[in-house]
Amino acid sequence: MKKTTLVLVSALLALNLHAKLNVVATTADIGAITHEIGGDAIALTTLAKPTEDPHFVDAKPSFILKLSRADVVIEGGAELEIGWLPALLDQSRNEKLANGAPGHIICSKGVPLMDVPATLDRSRGDIHAAGNPHYIIAPSNAKIVARNIADGLSEVDPKNAETYRTNLKKFTDALDAKMTEWQNKLAPFKGASIVAYHDSWPYFARDFGLKIELFLEPKPGIPPTPAHLAEVITKMKEENARVIIVDPYLNRKTAETVARSTEATVVDVAQFPGGVKGTDGGYIALLDYLVNSLAKALGTPGTIPAR
Ligand SMILES: [Zn+2]
Repeated sequence: MKKTTLVLVSALLALNLHAKLNVVATTADIGAITHEIGGDAIALTTLAKPTEDPHFVDAKPSFILKLSRADVVIEGGAELEIGWLPALLDQSRNEKLANGAPGHIICSKGVPLMDVPATLDRSRGDIHAAGNPHYIIAPSNAKIVARNIADGLSEVDPKNAETYRTNLKKFTDALDAKMTEWQNKLAPFKGASIVAYHDSWPYFARDFGLKIELFLEPKPGIPPTPAHLAEVITKMKEENARVIIVDPYLNRKTAETVARSTEATVVDVAQFPGGVKGTDGGYIALLDYLVNSLAKALGTPGTIPAR
């Protein structure tokens, strides 16, 4: 090949790469679903690590650069990213991503939020002031999120709308098929009480008929106190709760201490694909992991007699 031809080919390749929609997702669950919908039509970057607390993401200066070059930003909304995303968006000075612009996709649109407080009160440190923002870790909501992403990408990039629609159907069909399998696996444990460190699981509990209403944190974002943990231990014994779930960025040692006094098992969980081992494959791989590890832990007879 002649040198001039080579230059031309590389220029064309560069142009082609540029032609891809440049999409930034805030968290790894949104990143994983966006990857299902966007496929090869988009160039995707995810900001938060899957092992990071989504409320307190370490906002690196490189994030501003990524946002300044993006065509689209996709966020969870419901105030999940309120502590770090708005400042980054301001500094990126990218009008395509302004609030209300087509390039700013908010996944919570049309999701009925749970635990919306009757009165707004952030004075006591509650970081779920607009309702519980951890809604994506429930297949019924993941379908709404996937549709919001497909609609949003189609609006910004109409020439690939057909691709986004086809991918949306593929993802939704796969979820529907898996949902039956997951519900069957967890059906024997209907109503079982599970303890969580942080209140991230009400939507997951609703989708699978579990009860996840005891938390090691006295309020979302407030670290456990000895008095609160003593109360949790008493309730765990009353409810025969034998499983404590902990996300990678929370203090596993606290959970282990509570588990020792209650004969409970600590199970490592994540809301984000890649947050625990074996879940890199995406949203469905993560749900597979969660359902299987919970079914295993709940199915292991504890030493506390059932009531
Ligand atoms: Zn939270």
